[in-house]
Amino acid sequence: DFEYPHTFILLGASGDLAKKKIYPTIWYLYRDNLLPEKTKFFGYARTKQSISDVREKSKKYMKVRAGEEEKFEKFWQANDYCPGSYDKRVDYEILNQSITKFEKGPIANRIFYLAVPPTVFEDVTVNIRNACISIKGFTRVIIEKPFGRDDVSSSKLSNHLAGLFKEEQIYRIDHYLGKEMVQNLMTIRFANQIFGPSWNRENIASVLISFKEPFGTEGRGGYFDDFGIIRDVMQNHLLQILSLVAMEKPVSLNPNDIRDEKVKVLRHIRPIKREDILIGQYVGNPDGQGDEKLGYLDDPTVPKDSVTPTYALAVVYINNARWQGIPFILRCGKALNERKAEVRVQYRDVPGDIFDGHAKRNELVIRVQPGEALYLKLMSKSPGMKFDLVETELDLTYSMRYREADVPDAYERLILDVFMGTQMHFVRNDELTEAWRIFTPILNELEEQHVKPVPYTYGSRGPSEADKTLANYDFKYSGSYKWNKPTIH
Ligand code: NAP
Ligand code: NAP
Repeated sequence: DFEYPHTFILLGASGDLAKKKIYPTIWYLYRDNLLPEKTKFFGYARTKQSISDVREKSKKYMKVRAGEEEKFEKFWQANDYCPGSYDKRVDYEILNQSITKFEKGPIANRIFYLAVPPTVFEDVTVNIRNACISIKGFTRVIIEKPFGRDDVSSSKLSNHLAGLFKEEQIYRIDHYLGKEMVQNLMTIRFANQIFGPSWNRENIASVLISFKEPFGTEGRGGYFDDFGIIRDVMQNHLLQILSLVAMEKPVSLNPNDIRDEKVKVLRHIRPIKREDILIGQYVGNPDGQGDEKLGYLDDPTVPKDSVTPTYALAVVYINNARWQGIPFILRCGKALNERKAEVRVQYRDVPGDIFDGHAKRNELVIRVQPGEALYLKLMSKSPGMKFDLVETELDLTYSMRYREADVPDAYERLILDVFMGTQMHFVRNDELTEAWRIFTPILNELEEQHVKPVPYTYGSRGPSEADKTLANYDFKYSGSYKWNKPTIH
């Protein structure tokens, strides 16, 4: 299909996501010759502006290296902007005419990227369906979270979409699925005999999946306050990672075979109960610098009595033969001490100890960001005359092992996948339904009972209660592990 004309239409082209992420991404794909040669890009939004205004606004987010200037000009020549409303069909008919002009030949494909707020989502999709679908090729739509805010609103949205498009046309982005180490999970698990046989309740004690951010809402908490960290991170990104860590081996690498297994894992999880979750909200650190002094409630866009969690730790159990009784701990928070996303798989203590309790647990750490790495903590004899144990590691750090490799950005991969028509790294409708089934009751309970989150200080590791909770759920931390950062010669 790559020889035929393709059109990428970005709705909400005047917005934040468009300028910061989507325009830069399509430029990088274009620059690297990854897109079909005859690809044309259209921006669409209500703002009356020209493509040069769009170019100007996204300028500081787009890297252009020496020697790429000419290509960059060509990229913008392949771009157009069409102002129009979101709710009037006639405007979409005009857009359709503009697109059609470039679609010479027997086949022409269209991709719509919806970078618009959820409030106009229904209008936009109906109008695309009525006035803009390709009559001689595929039409695919990419949509961004939030996919509703609970089970009811999400299924309303799903039904709406299902009335307009086939599931094969809908690409729900969870950009964590575009990250290198998340994509690597299946390879680590299913291409290594060393992990396969021990990846179960007999050998693994607990699994911790974390997302940490070192900043708060920075004065833009309005949107966040309506959602909170559970909807923003846990219900989607962390649950997606969990399903890749826990799923059974799929029949094949076919996207639907993989998603069948992911959804099965979710079906084995019961809705989260009050006693299985700890929620927190950050408060300012009087000794901190700048924003660190400000708590969540100091954000002028956040209601003064907000109980929206900015931190959450939840334990889920997967009630199947492989995982029954093993805690999967999901943990995420804002305004913490560091930026980090990782998976820690902690193995059980070695039975029949002959080392006087000195052997520490094996732990497999899969670091998603920053700095992709995979390391396995293990015990070894201390080098030399003594017969002591030392904690050490087998270490695969991408920046050391793959010095030349350029790990592509998640959005680059995902948008290219849409051109190629592979839905492997996109969320299927039934996965979404299961995710909301697991989280909606607790979200409702927290809201209805106005449950107050525990405070934690900006820049800390989170509420101090969290470490106790980890220990209660069989995640052991000894504090004795020492990492010797290798020096590059
Ligand atoms: P945005 O800048 O607020 O909105 C995009 C465009 O939509 C605006 O430029 C505006 O264009 C139009 N718009 C804004 N408010 C509107 C309203 N009330 N009614 C009608 N049109 C309105 O949003 P964004 O940050 O780019 O995000 C776009 C979508 O991606 C949202 O669904 C968001 O939840 C999702 N998302 C964003 C990010 C991110 O990093 N920003 C991350 C994940 C998901 P015109 O006025 O010119 O029409
Ligand atoms: P660690 O020192 O044993 O710590 C494991 C985790 O426990 C920490 O990341 C911390 O995460 C958490 N923690 C800290 N204090 C705790 C407490 N009191 N109770 C419970 N949990 C606590 O091992 P590590 O973090 O895996 O490694 C240590 C350092 O070496 C890290 O900076 C790591 O990046 C580095 N290292 C790098 C590589 C590599 O680049 N390939 C390989 C090995 C190690 P939370 O704050 O998230 O809870």
